[in-house]
Amino acid sequence: MSVDVAWAVEWVRRSAQTIAEHREELIELDRLIGDGDHGENLDRGFRAVVAKLDALDEPPAQIGDVLKLVATTLMSTVGGAAGPLYGTAYLRAAKATATDELDSAGVVALVEAALDGIVARGKATTGEKTMVDAWSPAAEAAVHAADAGGSPADVLAAAAQAAAEGAQATIPLAATKGRASYLGERSMGHLDPGARSTELLLAEAAAAAA
Ligand code: ADP
Ligand code: MG
Repeated sequence: MSVDVAWAVEWVRRSAQTIAEHREELIELDRLIGDGDHGENLDRGFRAVVAKLDALDEPPAQIGDVLKLVATTLMSTVGGAAGPLYGTAYLRAAKATATDELDSAGVVALVEAALDGIVARGKATTGEKTMVDAWSPAAEAAVHAADAGGSPADVLAAAAQAAAEGAQATIPLAATKGRASYLGERSMGHLDPGARSTELLLAEAAAAAA
């Protein structure tokens, strides 16, 4: 499947599905090192996104239109840190995708823009046990896959794989940003909920293009 507007819609619908399926897991991860709201917040947000997609009179013309709808909806319905962080990620990604189809470089630009948005908003770098630890390797892997001549679907698959590995690599880390940083070293040994939700979302980006 090409990475076009239909892909973007499919990505969003699959995202809502996977977040709903992993709601309890995300709540539990956040309960261990935060306040336990991550799964509930994201589930509420993506349900609202799907409701807005369903209510559109006309199909979106550009990939960026779909991602902008996600951004504005998450910003207004998801509380906590993740609402503004994901909202900014999707907003920047939307600005990078004002087109009806992405080539491999375009997919790289989408992932890099999302990462840039999260970093601009949250000021975290890698190694601080946040969603940046999933998005940053995802962006790097996307660049490598595109440089190696990969298709847009290959680039998404590489990004998703790297996000999964990056999320797992948050387990031994001590959090130094966000609510989990209040726990200091007691946050060690736990998977970061935002890195896990990033892994889930990027897995669906890849699956929607496969
Ligand atoms: P809150 O911490 O306000 O309850 P959530 O539980 O929805 O918000 O989201 C927590 C997740 O947000 C963390 O697991 C982490 O991945 C991410 N996060 C928190 N602070 C930052 C930050 N400054 N930069 C990037 N990501 C962050
Ligand atoms: Mg929380």
